[in-house]
Amino acid sequence: MAIEKTDTLIVGGGQAGLAMSEHLGRAGVPHIVLERDRIAERWRTWRWDSLVANGPAWHDRFPTLEFDDVDPDGFAPKERVASYFEEYAKLIEAPIRCGVEVRRVTRNAGRPGFTIETSAGVIEAERVVAATGPFQKPVIPAILPEDAGVTQLHSASYRNPGQLPEGAVLVVGAGSSGVQIADELARAGRKVYLSVGPHDRPPRAYRGRDYCWWLGVLGLWDLATPPAGAEHVTISVSGAHGGHTVDFRALAAQGITLVGRTDGYEAGKVSFAQNLAETIARGDRNYLSVLDAADEYAARNGLDLPEEPQARMIGPDPDCMTRPLAGLDLKEAGVSTVLWATGFALDYGWLQVNAFDANGQPEHQRGVSKEPGVYFLGLPWLSRRGSSFIWGVWHDARFIADQIGIQRNYMAYEGPEAQAVKSA
Ligand SMILES: Cc1cc2nc3c(=O)[nH]c(=O)nc-3n(C[C@H](O)[C@H](O)[C@H](O)COP(=O)(O)OP(=O)(O)OC[C@H]3O[C@@H](n4cnc5c(N)ncnc54)[C@H](O)[C@@H]3O)c2cc1C
Repeated sequence: MAIEKTDTLIVGGGQAGLAMSEHLGRAGVPHIVLERDRIAERWRTWRWDSLVANGPAWHDRFPTLEFDDVDPDGFAPKERVASYFEEYAKLIEAPIRCGVEVRRVTRNAGRPGFTIETSAGVIEAERVVAATGPFQKPVIPAILPEDAGVTQLHSASYRNPGQLPEGAVLVVGAGSSGVQIADELARAGRKVYLSVGPHDRPPRAYRGRDYCWWLGVLGLWDLATPPAGAEHVTISVSGAHGGHTVDFRALAAQGITLVGRTDGYEAGKVSFAQNLAETIARGDRNYLSVLDAADEYAARNGLDLPEEPQARMIGPDPDCMTRPLAGLDLKEAGVSTVLWATGFALDYGWLQVNAFDANGQPEHQRGVSKEPGVYFLGLPWLSRRGSSFIWGVWHDARFIADQIGIQRNYMAYEGPEAQAVKSA
């Protein structure tokens, strides 16, 4: 049987794969997108039921398609985000095949291109774009043993409060997922402990503009590398309930007990780092720094935006911050579930090429890997802060399509002899 051939094979049919398809389509580059599940599957089945986009609909979208049924300043429900990408795939007539898993990609020996083994046969391509997501494999730190007597699950498996056994919940991690899930569980009447590590918490909105706008005009989405020391700092934002600033003191006032970073377990007792107040104060400094930068920008540009001095008021530290728990006996506290909102790792086991460093991390420059013909897309900080977000990946895809076009032009050059024949 003849092997199917294409110029560029895109692995993954989420926003990254589709953005790549749009730009390759515009450039006339033959390509195929393979998605093992459905379009934007991770928006459907890897996220909790009530999740809405963290950014407003005017911002968290591709430039080429608006949400026609979501208020531009509102936050699209996750199912709507998924259907948006389905609509988008139709709009650009993406050559996407769903239900096809890529199992192995290897470089051809002694000839250009790659052989791609899939669940539906073999394909050969000159180039491969890995668009399998910034968040591929849920990570649970090895702190609690399996037999700790509680249900343990990752935020990627959390759906709603009713899914969890009766009892209190320890939510570990205070990025956007951890704070939103803790809030939902507390509203559902659960006793919640929220374990807080380093984070940034920009204001939801300031002086009448959403933080997505401020980060844009301040050039912060375009930062090329993380600020020193901030490489692993998660960002706590929320579009839930119409969108609000993540405020740990407000979560405490709601009845959530804030605790420090979870750092150990012994004999039924989880222990916490003792720098909770400093961790939260650092998040406050990040919050205030955005207000300072916004005020300075508004003054320098003479923007007529309403002043908002009350945004600078930070309430007193609650008891759980001033006298933080050193540990928690899970049984005594009635904790039935530990929910790990502790992030994700990469998993490129299928990509068996020379594109990784000694730690298995992709080695690339703005997505162009050190293995010629292999490209990465959608990774955090691929080229800038916005790279793993909806709007940012579209711009990175345009750059990679351009790089692919450049390589195709070189390969199309046939040498001076062929030029002479043509002009004779
Ligand atoms: C809880 C949460 C909320 C978020 N909210 C926002 C938000 O509001 N706004 C925003 O801009 N960003 C948000 N993000 C960040 C980012 O937009 C999402 O993670 C988004 O899903 C990334 O899109 P992607 O296409 O890069 O990857 P993914 O959506 O992860 O898509 C990758 C696809 O590749 C497929 N795949 C993987 N391996 C293979 C294989 N071997 N063969 C074939 N197919 C394969 C997967 O099935 C998947 O569909 C959020 C992230 C999380 C975790």
